[in-house]
Amino acid sequence: MEKEQVKCLIIGSGPAGYTAAIYAGRANLSPVIYAGLQPGGQLTTTTDVENFPGYPQGIGGPELMEDLRKQAERFGADIRYGVATKADLSKQPYTITIDDEKEIEAQTLIIATGATAKYLGLDDEKKYAGMGVSACATCDGFFYRKKTVAVVGGGDTACEEAIYLAGLASKVYLIVRKPYLRASKVMQERVMNNEKIEVLFEHNAVGLYGEDGVEGVHLVKRMGEADERRYDLPVDGFFLAIGHKPNSDIFKPYLDTDETGYILTEPGTPRTKLPGVFAAGDVADPHYRQAITAAASGCMAAIEVERYLQSL
Ligand code: NDP
Repeated sequence: MEKEQVKCLIIGSGPAGYTAAIYAGRANLSPVIYAGLQPGGQLTTTTDVENFPGYPQGIGGPELMEDLRKQAERFGADIRYGVATKADLSKQPYTITIDDEKEIEAQTLIIATGATAKYLGLDDEKKYAGMGVSACATCDGFFYRKKTVAVVGGGDTACEEAIYLAGLASKVYLIVRKPYLRASKVMQERVMNNEKIEVLFEHNAVGLYGEDGVEGVHLVKRMGEADERRYDLPVDGFFLAIGHKPNSDIFKPYLDTDETGYILTEPGTPRTKLPGVFAAGDVADPHYRQAITAAASGCMAAIEVERYLQSL
C-alpha cells in the first residue's frame, strides 16, 4: 500500500478542519487535510448562515465553506478528497488509511470529522432538504418567524429546539413517538408551560407534502395496538431533533468517548489522551455544535499541534 509521511494531518473539512488548516498553514506546518464524505461539512447542506460573525448580511453555507477552503489553500494547506477509513493510533507516527488504499503516517493528527444529524429516513426529508426540512433550529429558526413549525423528538435537544423556535414562530408542534418525553424534568416543564408549544404524543411523522417547499406533515397517531389515525398537519418548517451521531467510529478503540461516541478531551482544550492527537469541532462537542465554536476549537487544535511539535 502507498505510504506517505506528514507532519500535521487534519481529517474533516468543516469549520473546525479548515480553521485548523489556516492556522497550521500560517505556522508553516504544511498541513494535509482530507475532506471526507461531505467536503465542507454540515454547513454545505444549509442555505443562509446569519450567525457567523463578520457577515452582516449573512452568507450561504456552501459559500462560507468555499471561502474557508480558499483561505486554507492560500496558506499552503494541501486539501485532498478522500475518506479516512481506518486508524491505528497504537503507536507513533499515527497511521490513517485513506479510502482503504493509502496510508498516511502522521506526526500529529487533528480529528475534525464532525457529527451527523440523525434523520427519520423518509424520502421526503431528502426531497425537501433546504426547502423546509432542517436539523438545526439555531441555524434555520429565524426563517420561520411568525410561522408554524414541527419538531420531531422527545429528548433534551428536541425540547430545547422547540423552546427556541417558540420564541420566533407563532406555533410549534412537538412530535413525540412515545406517550412521554425523555427530556430532563426541567426541560419538560418548560415545554409544557410554553403556550406556543403543543406536544403531540404517540405521533409519528410518515411523510411531508407541499408544492415548492414543506406545507405540511403526514402524521400517524397511535390509539392502541391495532388502532391508528392518519391525518395531515399544515406546517411551514419540519425540524429533526432525534439526536446526532459523532463521526468517531474508527478512533474509538484508541480514545476515550462518551456513551454517544463524542471524543472526550481535556476540559477547555482539544487535547485527547494521546500525545499529538487533538479533536476539534462537533466530533468532540455535544453541547454547542455551532460553526463558530467548531472554528474556534480548530484554531486551538492547530496551536496545540505547533506547541507539541516544538516540544519534541
Ligand atoms: P436523545 O437520544 O436523548 O433523544 C432522542 C429523542 O429522539 C428521543 O425522544 C427519541 O425517542 C427520539 N427519536 C429517536 N429516533 C426517533 C425516530 N426514528 N422517530 C421518532 N423519534 C425518535 O438525543 P438528544 O439529542 O435529545 O440528546 C443527546 C444528549 O445530549 C442527551 O444526553 C441530552 O440529555 C443531552 N442534551 C442536553 C441538553 C441540555 O442539558 N440543555 C440539550 C441537548 C442535549 P424515544 O424517547 O422514543 O427513544
